[in-house]
Amino acid sequence: MNSNQKTKLTEISQLGEFVLISKLTNFNHIKHKSTIKAIGDDAAVIERSNKETVVTTDLMVEGIHFNLMYTPLKHLGYKAVIVNLSDIYAMNAIPKYITVSIAVSNRFSYEALVELYAGIYTACELYNVDLIGGDTSSSEKGMFISITAIGEGEKENIVYRNTAKPNDLVCVSGDLGAAYMGLQVLERETDIFKSTPEIQPDLSDYDYILKRQLKPEARKDIIEILKLNKIVPTSMIDISDGLSSEILHICNQSQVGCEIYEERLPISDETIKMADEINILPTIAAMNGGEDYELLFTLNLKDYDKIKEFKEITVIGHITELNQGINLITKDGTSAPIIAQGWNAMDEHR
Ligand code: ADP
Ligand code: MG
Repeated sequence: MNSNQKTKLTEISQLGEFVLISKLTNFNHIKHKSTIKAIGDDAAVIERSNKETVVTTDLMVEGIHFNLMYTPLKHLGYKAVIVNLSDIYAMNAIPKYITVSIAVSNRFSYEALVELYAGIYTACELYNVDLIGGDTSSSEKGMFISITAIGEGEKENIVYRNTAKPNDLVCVSGDLGAAYMGLQVLERETDIFKSTPEIQPDLSDYDYILKRQLKPEARKDIIEILKLNKIVPTSMIDISDGLSSEILHICNQSQVGCEIYEERLPISDETIKMADEINILPTIAAMNGGEDYELLFTLNLKDYDKIKEFKEITVIGHITELNQGINLITKDGTSAPIIAQGWNAMDEHR
């Protein structure tokens, strides 16, 4: 950054906490009538519906969950919202409100936070969610973002992890492993940049996997398809830590086993290409890569006809009795136990 650009930036301490909050929340746009009071009082007030309330929260820490060397702040704000909405959809519920808490060191300018909030507001508009409050603090070092999402769903439609039954179909939305391969591209290019800054990275071959890493989406569309077709999954979870880890959660909590077919795993061409480049099997990327934010769910067999036409939903296996174990049936027909190798943000970024 040259000194010219630097002079345009506003130090947060120049504004003070209250001016900062009021400037950042100036752009807030409330969509729901049930939001009685959003930002500006000691607490937000929302009108309760006769549905069940679903609440989730996620903390993202600089250096652990994100790297600002290659993550634009606008994308970070967007993603911080998405990861929470994904958890609400994974309960088969609809997100309606979020709160956003941030702590930032004096390394960040007011303009940087405006960028972060631009991403937050973009996600709020696209997913029809109201920002109703938050908290703002300074930190000694780095940035922290914690978002809480609140949603609702009808009691009989809320879907848990512990209710899968033998013979149910195992389904996933979208494709798997792409976000992890996107991360590998970004880390590789960052290393190259650190050693040879004069080389500009050419990232054009990796559009899809980079988008999956930097601008993930939550599968609102899948929840809508399920609802339209009157399908209530027997269990559901979102894929944040990798398919292996999530299917283990479902099976362990439901006290069942499963068979997942390697040849059925939906994997994009770009994911396969990048996996080849870095010498890992695409199946490993699909099973253990994190941050896809797809939905993994189980369905009663009677619902198969209703979903078989949807390209965005793939049947990858079925639930078995507990004593049959949790297995991947590989392409050559052998059965291998699926082990917890979930992609772990902590190991990955340390
Ligand atoms: P209090 O001292 O009661 O915690 P604050 O001064 O922290 O109040 O916050 C004032 C208002 O601004 C509250 O409505 C709070 O929810 C909201 N708010 C504070 N920080 C943020 C933030 N980072 N993003 C969104 N809203 C915020
Ligand atoms: Mg406060």
